[in-house]
Amino acid sequence: MSPHPVLCYHRVGGPLELGVTRVGRAVFARQMTALAKAGWRTLTLAQFAQRFQPGNSALRIPPSAFLLTFDDGYASLAQYAYPLLAELGFTATTFLITDHVGANNTWDVRYTWRPLAHLDWRSVELWRARGFDFASHTASHARLTWLSDARAADELGRAREALIQRLGASAGRAVAYPFGAADARVQRLARSAGYELGFGSVRANGGAMHVPRVPVYLWDAWSVPLGLRPDRLGSVGRFVAHLANRCAVGTSVMQGLGARVSGLGGRESRRPSP
Ligand SMILES: [Zn+2]
Repeated sequence: MSPHPVLCYHRVGGPLELGVTRVGRAVFARQMTALAKAGWRTLTLAQFAQRFQPGNSALRIPPSAFLLTFDDGYASLAQYAYPLLAELGFTATTFLITDHVGANNTWDVRYTWRPLAHLDWRSVELWRARGFDFASHTASHARLTWLSDARAADELGRAREALIQRLGASAGRAVAYPFGAADARVQRLARSAGYELGFGSVRANGGAMHVPRVPVYLWDAWSVPLGLRPDRLGSVGRFVAHLANRCAVGTSVMQGLGARVSGLGGRESRRPSP
């Protein structure tokens, strides 16, 4: 278990969906409030990046700190999640799909019954000024491991360029690989595009270009926040390990559900998009 875990959320609040990556607004509020009350702190991306720098002492970062991340950059974050986090004194890092900033999502199969809006640059700049970090989720959310070197480099480089141009050099520090998919080749391409940090899935190897994250999906709604009391929350590690177990169980449940859905409605069975 990493001393400073990385939690990964997708959508918070907004319309219900057929997929599993949406976490309800009240559930999210309960989880964050419980962590804050128990004394946990969130790290900025710069603080988190320090642990990968040579000569770094882990002691400089408080042990009860974690990195909170959001993938895909949906507009509902600015409506529900960010204001709550700001109130709790928390911050977060959001990974943007730079071709889709300010647009409706056209890059993913519809799980909802209407298109979902992404954050626009104005809200991104506003929340950045309030201490929230933004980073790359590539230009168009393509699975990088399926692309040629040239196309993968373009996805990584174009997104980084757009972020730096709009938000300054530090916004080019990190990338979250779409679907968590990053082999050694993709990690090398990300490094040569100029990224210092690459975030992968729960099974990532732990290097700077393949940092593991714990996804938080729909099924975390039931047990985690309800039974969570500060005195029982011995460490964020235990909290995260619990979420990870829920995810492992949830994955098979979700795959079964996907098969049933595709059998019933002819809808394509899909995994959630980390
Ligand atoms: Zn994504």
